[in-house]
Amino acid sequence: MKKIVLGNWKSVGDTASNVVLLTALAQHAPAAGVELGVCVPYPYLPQAKAILEGTEIGWGAQNVSPFGAGAYTGEVHAGMLAEFGCRYALVGHSERRQYFGETDELIAGKIDRLLAANVRPVVCVGETLAERESGAWREMLEGQVRALVTRLGVDKCARAWFAYEPVWAIGTGRSAEPRDIAEAHAFLRRQLVALGVPQRDLVLLYGGSVKADNAQSIFAVPGCDGVLVGAASRVVGEFAAIAAAA
Ligand code: 13P
Repeated sequence: MKKIVLGNWKSVGDTASNVVLLTALAQHAPAAGVELGVCVPYPYLPQAKAILEGTEIGWGAQNVSPFGAGAYTGEVHAGMLAEFGCRYALVGHSERRQYFGETDELIAGKIDRLLAANVRPVVCVGETLAERESGAWREMLEGQVRALVTRLGVDKCARAWFAYEPVWAIGTGRSAEPRDIAEAHAFLRRQLVALGVPQRDLVLLYGGSVKADNAQSIFAVPGCDGVLVGAASRVVGEFAAIAAAA
């Protein structure tokens, strides 16, 4: 199994700074056994494609429409992502759940559309600080994955990648400790397997304040298949250093 290193630029970037980042990234062929990619804002997909095409590095989006082509003003559908060469798209990020009211139902619809277009869904799950501190995090994570397996079925969920992103670790500079990641990953694995997803198909990433200086300890977590990197993926050199630690 490859180690996966994905960047999530979020709603950050402009053409000029992207050129610098993407050009630097294109110089860093990932080591054998490492899958490296960046999820960029929609308007920059052609730019990512132009600079990264022909390298081993993948690119993707951070969202997708739950509908296909049609009268859905403002939406970008999965076929469009496929046309621009997206290997992956994030789905159900906590920022989308929090600020855009995304529900499990909606997220399941997006996963379905991505799979039909052959774009890998990277499904984000994770608990808030209150849920972590009260111990309700297990219930929360179980509920999030159960909602998807119930709606999509086992086969589709087996084709998605999952990212455990505790909300309290995102953008706070406070990454989860390796033992917490190991515990949450083991819990998620058990739940997904209990719901019928074959163990061998499970891919579980971690996201939340991953940086060059903690990447190595996160990759060393047993059963951690990779990382989803926010802010540090927008820093020239830092993202490459994270990939080098994989
Ligand atoms: P940070 O790495 O900035 O904490 O963001 C993590 C994240 O949300 C990745 O999707």
